[in-house]
Amino acid sequence: MDDFSSYAAQLDKPEWRSLRQKILERDGHRCQLCGKGKSAFMRDKDKIINYGIDYSLKISAGLISDEILTVEQFKNRLNIDWIKCMRNHDKIIGITSNNTYGFFIVKDSNNIPPKQDLMVRLISLPNGALSFIITDTPEVKDLDYGFYLSQTPISLNVHHKNYILGRKAWEYSDLDLVTLCNECHLSVHKAIGVKVYSNENGFMTEVKLTPCLRCGGTGYFPEYKNVQNGICFRCNGSRFEEYKSNS
Ligand SMILES: [Zn+2]
Ligand SMILES: [Zn+2]
Ligand SMILES: [Zn+2]
Repeated sequence: MDDFSSYAAQLDKPEWRSLRQKILERDGHRCQLCGKGKSAFMRDKDKIINYGIDYSLKISAGLISDEILTVEQFKNRLNIDWIKCMRNHDKIIGITSNNTYGFFIVKDSNNIPPKQDLMVRLISLPNGALSFIITDTPEVKDLDYGFYLSQTPISLNVHHKNYILGRKAWEYSDLDLVTLCNECHLSVHKAIGVKVYSNENGFMTEVKLTPCLRCGGTGYFPEYKNVQNGICFRCNGSRFEEYKSNS
């Protein structure tokens, strides 16, 4: 029964990668609990700022100003030296030199038009912060997303709602899988745990296992996603205390 200790290796296999990609696509690359997409980061002096799209937010057209600025007017008015754009799945987030976050909304996201063809509208967010849309279309529409800032990186995990002993990570139906961000993934494991079954001649029996004390049984170590693909180093991705020394 070394299927749990080899779990970390399974997560690197093409079978899992392609199923994982399919589930991410199905779920719109967003956490199905909190609505966050994965984060990108930028360095601000010695600080790292993680940011991304939050699909649980809405920006109503009423918050978007009617006034249209040119990019130059926008930069002058807010005293901005530069504007960077960062792609985050199918959205483009704009970031300015003075830490204002906004959105590029262009007809062809692979080709951002030259700046003389772009218009800027300011957004007054409900929390008092300023945001913006840089766009090549004059009409104003509600946005069915916003952005978040986070101290820790947000990644997307594909969570198994249950485990069946002897099955590989990809040997589950799509209905047993769901996209969660690393934070919700950890809280789901801590709050609900995951049921583990053994399948003997078609009889599913629940097996009692102790989720890893560090990763809560997610197999990932949420705060360090860049270390060894984020695989938990207490259980080495095996997810359960009973299996952690086998690795
Ligand atoms: Zn989440
Ligand atoms: Zn999980
Ligand atoms: Zn662990």
